[in-house]
Amino acid sequence: MDTYSTATLYINGKWVEADRGASFEVTDPSSGQVIGVAADAGTAETERAIAAASDAFPNWRAQNAYTRAAALLRMHELMLERSEDLALLMSLEQGKPLRAARNEIRYAADFLIWFAEEAKRIYGSTIPSSRTNQRLTVLRQPIGVVAGITPWNYPVSMITRKVAPAIAAGCSIVVKPAEQTPLCARAVFDIFDEADLPPGVVNLITTSRPSEVGDAFLRSRAIRKLTFTGSTAVGKMLASRASESMKRVSLELGGHAPFIVFDDADVEHAAKGAALAKYLNTGQACISPNRIYVQRGSIGRFVNVLTDRARRLRPGSGVDESSTIGPLIDMTAVTKMEQQVADAVGKGAQVAIGGERLREDGLDGGNFFAPTVLTGVSPAMSIYNEETFGPIAPVIAFDTEDEVVAMANDTEYGLASYVYTKDLARAVRVSEALRFGIVGINDINPTAAAAPFGGLGESGVGREGGAQGIDEYLDVKLVAHVLGDAVD
Ligand code: NAP
Repeated sequence: MDTYSTATLYINGKWVEADRGASFEVTDPSSGQVIGVAADAGTAETERAIAAASDAFPNWRAQNAYTRAAALLRMHELMLERSEDLALLMSLEQGKPLRAARNEIRYAADFLIWFAEEAKRIYGSTIPSSRTNQRLTVLRQPIGVVAGITPWNYPVSMITRKVAPAIAAGCSIVVKPAEQTPLCARAVFDIFDEADLPPGVVNLITTSRPSEVGDAFLRSRAIRKLTFTGSTAVGKMLASRASESMKRVSLELGGHAPFIVFDDADVEHAAKGAALAKYLNTGQACISPNRIYVQRGSIGRFVNVLTDRARRLRPGSGVDESSTIGPLIDMTAVTKMEQQVADAVGKGAQVAIGGERLREDGLDGGNFFAPTVLTGVSPAMSIYNEETFGPIAPVIAFDTEDEVVAMANDTEYGLASYVYTKDLARAVRVSEALRFGIVGINDINPTAAAAPFGGLGESGVGREGGAQGIDEYLDVKLVAHVLGDAVD
């Protein structure tokens, strides 16, 4: 792929440039070097993409489920064929180590095959009527044109998690990816292009002016559904404005995941799991453990293993096979880490390891922050209350089950949560008491294309993946039918 081509808009089945050739640069977060360019679209290009999607919708919704599934299966095949190239591009553009990038491509491809299969299971139902001459039938039909807005942290899977169910349901879609990762989006759309979908079914708008594109989505009456993954602040703004034209919205927003370790757990195993989950994607995941609660009797052992794991990580460019932790996405994120550490230390926390920006060994040009463990963290500290989105593991001591459940639930967010215990009854009690959309019991990877993903409260509305994921793209229609003229 030529990363310097500015034809990164995919509208009506064609790759095109932005009007007047407008473009913006894309940089490698591990070095600050420019690695490519992308088209900088605004209102006019977005409106053309929406028009293309609107024109394509009637024909696409009329295709049978097997035709739609076949297109998705072809995309799945192509994504697996290209997985190594896609992973390399992702490591370069987004920064995650190659191994994690390869995992993300597999996860992204899973949505394509999962929804290829779900396309054939968009069942309706019949309802027994109290009137003998009446028939009640429930149909599920595609909602219409969809707008999808995606973040940079999972730049491939967040696209397939929206596009696959949309086209499986018979919708057409316009996607706006994050401005940090337009090249990954383009590579995914190359695959969609080769899968021979009718023109206009999928469209891509890259931009450095997100509000201009967002405004065009919100103003459009043709768009019936907005699906967004990103920060809670932007999600709330979009949802409130989407209500003006009564668009359906689904929102996958921020998280503040508790990670709870009881004395009865395998504490070493829990600490290894905490390190894997916390430093994955350099902490830039909505389900990243953000508050690590450890029962007082185990805290010493837990912190030793966690610190040891943090020490063993090798920061570096994602494309270097020996790197095990990549950079943060930008310097704003590095500054946020510095502020959270300074605030916590100022209020009594101790730095067990890390705590500062990394500049040595050629890391100076990138946005690197040391894998960090903080102990003695308390509710007065900003890290206790804010989503960190970086490689800082704050450890908090607790004494009782009731206390830790109350602390874990004391947040506006409600996406993922984790519990380590060997006590079966406790596992059941605590998983039922936690107010989160996802609970992992002795499990740091509680996600799969086949399972519903989503949050409660300020973590969002709606679910992606699983049998539920396609519902977000379907309207429910009741057909009530009276046979003959008799009224009974
Ligand atoms: P963000 O700033 O909200 O950006 C997300 C997307 O929204 C980007 O494409 C961004 O475009 C776009 N955007 C920003 N302002 C907009 C506007 N006014 N109109 C239309 N679009 C707009 O979030 P982020 O910092 O990139 O992503 C991190 C957040 O995403 C975290 O809070 C994380 O927890 C959350 N997240 C949630 C999930 C989940 O499934 N729940 C998954 C991954 C990430 P630009 O890039 O051009 O700004």
